[in-house]
Amino acid sequence: MLKRVAIIGAGISGLTVGYALTKKGIQVDIFERSQSIDEFGAGITLSKNATSLLDDIGLLGSIAAKGYRPLGSYIRDFKTTKVISSMKLDKNFITIDRRNLVEELFKRSQELGCNILLNNTIESIDASKGIVNSSSNSHAKYDLILICDGINSIFRQSLFGGQKPKFAGYVAWRGMTTKEALPLYEGSLKANIYYGPGAHFVHYPTGLDDKINFLMIERSSIWTEESWKLEGDKSDFLNRFEGWNKDIVSMLNSADKIYKWGIFERSLPKKMFSEKCVLLGDAAHPMVPFLGQGGCMAVEDAYCLSSLINVTKDTHKALTKYDQLRNARCKWIQRRSRLQGIFNHVSSPLIVPIRNILAKFTMKFSVEKLHSYDLITELRS
Ligand SMILES: Cc1cc2nc3c(=O)[nH]c(=O)nc-3n(C[C@H](O)[C@H](O)[C@H](O)COP(=O)(O)OP(=O)(O)OC[C@H]3O[C@@H](n4cnc5c(N)ncnc54)[C@H](O)[C@@H]3O)c2cc1C
Repeated sequence: MLKRVAIIGAGISGLTVGYALTKKGIQVDIFERSQSIDEFGAGITLSKNATSLLDDIGLLGSIAAKGYRPLGSYIRDFKTTKVISSMKLDKNFITIDRRNLVEELFKRSQELGCNILLNNTIESIDASKGIVNSSSNSHAKYDLILICDGINSIFRQSLFGGQKPKFAGYVAWRGMTTKEALPLYEGSLKANIYYGPGAHFVHYPTGLDDKINFLMIERSSIWTEESWKLEGDKSDFLNRFEGWNKDIVSMLNSADKIYKWGIFERSLPKKMFSEKCVLLGDAAHPMVPFLGQGGCMAVEDAYCLSSLINVTKDTHKALTKYDQLRNARCKWIQRRSRLQGIFNHVSSPLIVPIRNILAKFTMKFSVEKLHSYDLITELRS
């Protein structure tokens, strides 16, 4: 039976798995390189496939209390805002500010007794002995090391090889505004997606303080910035909305700051564990964000691994099962997310009407299929 586990990274994957393992009586140390939880203010959506797991381990109540339940979603035309397709969303779909999500995961893990060591960068690992060496000069030995250090994971590269994260051909712009700035039509307080030429735009409330998160993603052939998260030029951003509905443009104008990202992805490694190390979250499978599933996969990984570790004393068997379940699932979600990107960014006037008809008749079915994945049942079989 495992007694001590080290986790590298206090993001969604690291904190969720840290909480779940601590709850099972395992001693957990989470190493986080930042001095404080410095998540950026941006919205994130969590669908039933992840919220049902958070519920099962007792985390959903306090997270949902800081978030929002939009209960419906609309796809609209960029110029007229006319509804192309709509569907109801149940109470299991929540939207939340990432800061509130991570802060809540952090607080709940700490309250449970999980040891979170901030300002501690892990600099090297001995994968066969389970030793982690941190910037605070500590060297400690663990039964298992969980690598949750995100898209730019250095340990993914050194222990599992493969390609570095690859630019996916999209740039995302995001910002926050307030409820008062929303266009005044029915459903504007729910989740809204607008299809425009070569770009799509999303907005939804995030819960506290009447804040509205928005995100625009456009095709782009190059991303040359060194950083993957920088402040963007507002007028440059607004120029991209020429021909869009004036109410949307006015809403965007109300935001103080605009940030921009290059979107990167990386294929899964052949195996998600090696010796005493296991990959979770973006360290294993960063994906394009068109289905809003990267964070949900991080939660699924955390739940899957912590459940398997609980039910078997044979760690190798648990890791093999983890790899088998997560590799197949995340590969499929990565592929589906990529296809959704092509679908969302159609620009040919001949294909747009066909895409819109498909969206009208397939949205409900495809969203329900995606969100109804039931890891709890899968683990029982
Ligand atoms: C534009 C955009 C929109 C998105 N929208 C959604 C959405 O709506 N829904 C959804 O489910 N997902 C969404 N995602 C994806 C989601 O944000 C990620 O999948 C998720 O944050 C991954 O969590 P993680 O814990 O694996 O990694 P991260 O959140 O990146 O956490 C990694 C942590 O490790 C720490 N770290 C790194 N190296 C070290 C080290 N050597 N030592 C110690 N600590 C270290 C970092 O400081 C960080 O805190 C979106 C992504 C993008 C880009």
